[in-house]
Amino acid sequence: MVFALPSGAAAQKKAGPRKTVSAQWSRQECSAGIDLFFSAMEPRQGSLQLVEIRSRKRLAEVSGKWNGDELQFWTPSSGAGKGLDVRRALLGIDLALAAGAHDFAAAGKTADGEAFSCGATLTVREGQFAVEKLTVAPQFVEPNPEQLARAEEEGKRLREIFATVTPEKLWSGRFRVPITGATNGRNFGRRRVLNGEPSSPHTGVDFPAPAGTSIHAAQDGRVVLAEPLYFSGNTVIIDHGLGVYTLYGHLSAFGVKAGDAVVAGSVIGKVGATGRVTGPHLHWGLTVNRAKVNALDITRSL
Ligand SMILES: [Zn+2]
Repeated sequence: MVFALPSGAAAQKKAGPRKTVSAQWSRQECSAGIDLFFSAMEPRQGSLQLVEIRSRKRLAEVSGKWNGDELQFWTPSSGAGKGLDVRRALLGIDLALAAGAHDFAAAGKTADGEAFSCGATLTVREGQFAVEKLTVAPQFVEPNPEQLARAEEEGKRLREIFATVTPEKLWSGRFRVPITGATNGRNFGRRRVLNGEPSSPHTGVDFPAPAGTSIHAAQDGRVVLAEPLYFSGNTVIIDHGLGVYTLYGHLSAFGVKAGDAVVAGSVIGKVGATGRVTGPHLHWGLTVNRAKVNALDITRSL
């Protein structure tokens, strides 16, 4: 999907007749002089959306809540127009969020102390994800108890990382695809049924690439993890701030360590086949306020 950022007649005129490529912002009235805008009112599971609060009065504070998590707002450098105070947040529609109606809530205060609160209901649509049925030898389905304990421990650590919000926005501008020249990835949301048992959905985008290919940081941020994990092999996680994390899996070699600051394009490692894989590729994941979403979406929006 592609988002057309500025709303209004000028933006629509610019988009010309190719209406299919520009999503329309949907406006929801909030209170006097304050409106909510959503990039989609019927987003798909696993998609990344945007929400904006636009106010004719100066805003002192804003907050938003979606699926039990606080959203993180920032002030976009290109405001929506003269005289408006605009705050924008990423709205991650988790891959596993049930289809149907979900409530979004916003609240805040204007600079002159006037409180506001409002909400909107988004209708989450089913994602279109592949299902792959496989029959394989049992040792490929069930990790042994020791592997299972390790995988569970690592899963807990990852959940703790993704639940941690760095209050600063460390990125600026669009995210890039981590493999130079790659235009498309695959397998996002794919669900495997192994020997009749459904496994959890695939939360990343896979880029097949020869072993040794350089992997680049998608945006500025700070490395919070660079180590081998059971499922994703040698893994790097970058914290981009405001609850946004990218994950890079199955590396053959690390180019960074935990604590390193990176900029968009920094080489953070090499493509490999470590962890539970059948061949060399990069597994690229995006988590926004704990929601697992299609990482390619963040290269097309913002
Ligand atoms: Zn993968």
